[in-house]
Amino acid sequence: MELVNYTLLWVWEALDKVLKEKKEICSCEQCRYDMACLAVNNLKPNYVVNRQGGVYARTKMLSQQMPTDVLTEVVKAVDKVSKNPYHFRED
Ligand SMILES: [Zn+2]
Repeated sequence: MELVNYTLLWVWEALDKVLKEKKEICSCEQCRYDMACLAVNNLKPNYVVNRQGGVYARTKMLSQQMPTDVLTEVVKAVDKVSKNPYHFRED
């Protein structure tokens, strides 16, 4: 068993969509994690108990409507990180 945060799964889902449409934005691992982190911290968690492993949770998640505020927060996070990517500052 595990606890799955649907909000985080939705954030990754939305992030994939947004980055696919904005090819000019860096989508390296560092940037993607920074974006997901920012977005998920601004959203309410939505935990469920998953009895059958990760694949089941993902399939079930896809049948649920992604709340619109998830996409809103992801777009904001992409905008913020892409304007000031952490990986450039650390170099
Ligand atoms: Zn990057």
